[in-house]
Amino acid sequence: MSRRDVGEVLLEVKDLTVDYLTLKGAVRAVDTANFTLRRGEILGVAGESGSGKSTLTTAILRLQRPPAVTAGGQVIYHHRDGAATDLVPRTDKELRSIRWDQLAIVMQSAMDALNPVKRLGEQFRDVLQLHNPKMSKDESNTRAQDLLAMSGIPRDRVNSYPHEMSGGMRQRSLISLALACDPDLVIMDEPTTAVDVVMQRTIMSQVLRLQRRLGFAIIFVTHDLSLLLELSDRLAIMYAGKIVEIGPASELYATPRHPYTAALRDSFPPLFAPLKVMSGIPGAAPDLMDLPPGCAFAPRCPRAMPICHEQEPAFIEVAPAVRAACLLNQPEVVAGQPTIGASLPVAGEAPSSDDPEEASLALDTTPRDPGGWS
Ligand code: SF4
Repeated sequence: MSRRDVGEVLLEVKDLTVDYLTLKGAVRAVDTANFTLRRGEILGVAGESGSGKSTLTTAILRLQRPPAVTAGGQVIYHHRDGAATDLVPRTDKELRSIRWDQLAIVMQSAMDALNPVKRLGEQFRDVLQLHNPKMSKDESNTRAQDLLAMSGIPRDRVNSYPHEMSGGMRQRSLISLALACDPDLVIMDEPTTAVDVVMQRTIMSQVLRLQRRLGFAIIFVTHDLSLLLELSDRLAIMYAGKIVEIGPASELYATPRHPYTAALRDSFPPLFAPLKVMSGIPGAAPDLMDLPPGCAFAPRCPRAMPICHEQEPAFIEVAPAVRAACLLNQPEVVAGQPTIGASLPVAGEAPSSDDPEEASLALDTTPRDPGGWS
């Protein structure tokens, strides 16, 4: 399957809610997250630090550690044979049979994620033999070498310890390890944060090449919206623990229906467009223990109206395949409210630039031809 062949539903996340239990009470880190992922699809998850991105992805695999607890919702995994499993109520033993075999994760720091006192080959063998007890040492060694070679790592590195490899090589080894059992989904939590931009591009080329060849779906978490725009079929934007907008990546870039999405987009310079002043996002992300009333983004939002400080927006369909949580998309609620910052493209308006040259030169965010990364 190629990454173009986005298939049937693989994962349904319904009202997933995660709390951190503290002495001062429960802090809601992920609040009723809802989305669906299809086979072979790449979903990018973006948002500032503390928005709940990593908590969401670890909760999908039930890998969160105390004091984080899943407070509600479902994570329904659709197996290849058509069966479906809700991962939330499953026991650790049941989850172990699914994790890595069908749903894998690549953590942020390769140095911490790899076992420093085991050679790479042994670490592959641990994973492979756990899910294929009859696999021999020679077979697992060959499989490990094949997977490393697919990621552009020399086969003899199977005998290396993690400290004998560069940061980029360790990160690619982790990605190979995640693919050991041919999973349906690989969650990648900021896999390129610790490497330089050249290595970042090399790693992403390898990821897309592997994804095209093996057909797994990806949930990719990063702060780097520009990277996600090139990589993802769809984007989910998180703020204060909530998904505030989700839809096709090119659509969210061209016509964001949430001012936070627009602000994120306008916080990085387009590579191929005329220079412009970066607007940034004023203020800081809210304290999850003390969220403002109404819309959590209201204190920072350039389009906030009086009612935004009172009423929480509903997460509703605002265009085909696009959902957003902003009152500007609820005309019946905002009728009569003073409007501010009307130049932001929300609720189906055209992109903000009225300069046709600038508009035509804007960063090309159409789902990328994987060949461009090869
Ligand atoms: Fe801004 Fe109001 Fe929309 Fe919140 S609901 S994002 S404050 S316009």
